[in-house]
Amino acid sequence: MNVNQLPDNPYLLLTPGPLSTSKKVKAAMLRDWCTWDQDYNQLVQSIRSRLVTMASSKPEDYTTVLMQGSGTFSVESVIGSVIPRNGKLLVLTNGAYGKRMAEMAEILGIYSIVLDSGETKPVNTKQLEEVLKVDSSITHVAVVHVETTTGMMNPVADVTRIAKAYGKTVIVDAMSSFGGIPIDMAALDIDYLISSANKCIQGVPGFGFIIARKEALSTCKGIARSLSLDLYDQWETMELGNGKWRYTSPTHTVRAFDQALQELEEEGGIASRYERFKTNQQTLVAGMERMGLKTLLPVELQSPIITSFLYPDSPVFSFDEFYSRMKQEGFVIYPGKITAASTFRIGNIGDVHLADMERLLAGMEKQLFWKTT
Ligand SMILES: *Cc1c(COP(=O)(O)O)cnc(C)c1O
Repeated sequence: MNVNQLPDNPYLLLTPGPLSTSKKVKAAMLRDWCTWDQDYNQLVQSIRSRLVTMASSKPEDYTTVLMQGSGTFSVESVIGSVIPRNGKLLVLTNGAYGKRMAEMAEILGIYSIVLDSGETKPVNTKQLEEVLKVDSSITHVAVVHVETTTGMMNPVADVTRIAKAYGKTVIVDAMSSFGGIPIDMAALDIDYLISSANKCIQGVPGFGFIIARKEALSTCKGIARSLSLDLYDQWETMELGNGKWRYTSPTHTVRAFDQALQELEEEGGIASRYERFKTNQQTLVAGMERMGLKTLLPVELQSPIITSFLYPDSPVFSFDEFYSRMKQEGFVIYPGKITAASTFRIGNIGDVHLADMERLLAGMEKQLFWKTT
């Protein structure tokens, strides 16, 4: 079909997902698929193997499991399926998504320890080492790569190095970074990495995926605390059924994801996409700073995915007002999520390019209502 016939989005989403996708990704959804037919199963298998190759320089040691639901469902399938009954999880937190993993452990009745570093500091690797030194009952360590709450990039390589020195299994929530920031699970020695269809890969929402070290996942049979989120069982079905899912699979979303992966490959892979996101983010911050708006985090902690900005110091500023004015300009921005300061966020992932950032800044220049009293 001629994708130019598809309607334009009324505004660009500058959010951490779901985000603006290409017309070809949307057009890929315009047919139905039989989940039992090998055409569809081959599509699933191709996606699984391409994800493994993107995530690891030793793809033969890793496998991918696709899981229905939003990204949180995939995180919960890992937390609930890989920690044995007598295991213990240490969660490093500095925002909502780290906290969510700790909450899952609590609800699922998994022994856990939380090390929180506060929203504006990276996770504390020194404290991690101190705890691992004295508590040998810990079996697993979990951390968020880019804490989307603030846009903070956590020191995953340091976390993994320390955790591995003590023989722990490492779980990384790379929801908002995988596909947009290069990460080599084999080099970093990560056991489980979780992401979803609708973030840096630029697909539409509907499923998440878990890239797992085969050796680790193969020990997880029968320990899940949930039927539908049983990671091992889902893996076994996909392996034995050559691309079959347990229960209804989100067929249209999966087909759109295949197109999104193709577009990532055409762009030049993760390294090129990372450069685009970095350019977007740096252009955004430079322009905002020219208008007197300041970032929450110092540049060395900032990811190229999403940026938190402090509210301008003015009694007439209101986020709601700013939001609706920016929406009129054609851009949807994002509220803040932290308690320590009043912030809003602007994402720069998705089908978003330098020209869009320049348009955003030009549009914003006209909407600095708090400056004109
Ligand atoms: C978006 C996100 C999630 C969860 O995503 P949902 O799709 O909303 O369930 C988890 N972790 C991080 C770091 C995220 O950015």
